[in-house]
Amino acid sequence: MNLEQIDKEYVLHTYNRNYVNFTRGENATLFDENGKNYIDFSSGIGVVSCGHGNPRIAEAISKQAKSILHISNLFLIEPQAKLAKKIVELSGYDMRCFFANSGAEANEGAIKIARKFGEIDGEPKRYKIITLENSFHGRTITALKATGQEKMHAYFGPFPDGFVHAKTVDDVLSLIDDHTVAVMVELVQGEGGVTPLDVQKVQKLAQELKKLNILLIIDEVQTGVYRTGEFLTSNLYGITPDVVTLAKGLGGGVPIGCVMTTLKDIFKAGDHGSTFGGNYLVTTAGLEALDILTEEYESGVLGKTMIYFQEKLKEIASSYENLFHKELGVGMMRALELKDSANLPVIIKKSFESGLIVLRAGTDRIRFLPPLTISKEEIDEGFKRLKDALNTL
Ligand SMILES: *Cc1c(COP(=O)(O)O)cnc(C)c1O
Repeated sequence: MNLEQIDKEYVLHTYNRNYVNFTRGENATLFDENGKNYIDFSSGIGVVSCGHGNPRIAEAISKQAKSILHISNLFLIEPQAKLAKKIVELSGYDMRCFFANSGAEANEGAIKIARKFGEIDGEPKRYKIITLENSFHGRTITALKATGQEKMHAYFGPFPDGFVHAKTVDDVLSLIDDHTVAVMVELVQGEGGVTPLDVQKVQKLAQELKKLNILLIIDEVQTGVYRTGEFLTSNLYGITPDVVTLAKGLGGGVPIGCVMTTLKDIFKAGDHGSTFGGNYLVTTAGLEALDILTEEYESGVLGKTMIYFQEKLKEIASSYENLFHKELGVGMMRALELKDSANLPVIIKKSFESGLIVLRAGTDRIRFLPPLTISKEEIDEGFKRLKDALNTL
C-alpha cells in the first residue's frame, strides 16, 4: 500500500484530504516529496505563526525534549508559569491563565468559567450563553452546540442546554433573559467567513453587558496572538473582556490552548484540569513563539508585512472584478469574497496546482492566513501564483 492507501484504510475520513506529501518547510514555503515548492498562505489554519521549520522554535523544543517533556500539573512547571505571565502582560488585562490543548478545549474552559460564575453569583442561577450565527467555537459536543451553524448540529444530539444563537451583534441584547450568564463571540469570524464585527457595536455591547453583570467571552482562538496586528484583537477593539481564549498561533505549531479570565479565583482545586495542558513541550514552544512574534511586532516588521499583504490582495480584488466582490478581513486574517461560490473549489484547486496553498471560509470566500513571519518575496511569489491560477479560469 502506498501512503495514500494506508491513510484511507486506517484513518477515519473526517477530512476531504489533499494527498500531497510535504516533507519539509521553510517559513512560508513548503516542499513536497517530489521537490515541488508551495507558498503557504494558510499556515496550517493559522497555527504556524512563526513559519515552518523555524530554527528558534526547533532549538527551544529540542533542548527542552532532552530534559523534561512532561511531569503533570501536580507540580510546578517553569515555562508554564512564565508563559502565563507573558500572555497576561502582553494582553494588558488583569487575568490568570489555564492551559488546555486546543481551541475547543480552551472554549470548554471558558464555558465552565461562565457556568460556575452563574452558579455562585446570586439568584436566579444563570447558565445561558449567547453566541452568534456563523460562529465557530470547536468540535467537542458543547463547543459544537455553542457554534451557531445549524448544519453542524445535524447529528450528535442531545446537546447540552443553554446556548442561544443571535443572528447578529445587534440582536444579542434582545435575547438576554434572567438566565443569561455570558455572551461569546469571535471579533473576526474565521471559519464563518472572515467577517469582522463592527468595532463601535462591540464596544457598546461590552458596556451594556458590564452593566448587566453578564460575562463577555472573546474567542480569540484564530484572531489572537498578533493575527490581526495587536497581541489580541480585543486590544484592537479597545474592550476588556471577562474571558479570552487562545490556541492556534500560540505555540508556533504545537497543540496548545489557553483560557484567561479576570475572574482570577473562579476555579478551586479540582474544578478543572488537563493531563497534558501546559506541559514543558508546549509552553516552551509558546514562550519562544511569543519572543519571535513580539520582536516582529515591536520592530514594526509585522505592521509593514500586513499592509503589504493587504495591498496585494486589494490589487487582486480590483484586477479580477469579474470574480470577486471585495477583499475583507483584518491584519493577516483576510479573504476574497467570490461573486460565484461555484468557483471556490476551482480556485483552491488551481492555486494548489500553481504552487499556492489557500483556504476556504464560509461558502463563498477564499481565506488567507499566512505565517506572520512571511517574507516580502514569499508574498510576491504567492500572489504571482494566485494570478496564474485565476488566469486559467
Ligand atoms: C479553530 C477554532 C476553534 C477550534 O480550535 P481547535 O483547536 O480545532 O479545537 C475554536 N474557535 C475558533 C474561533 C477557531 O478558529
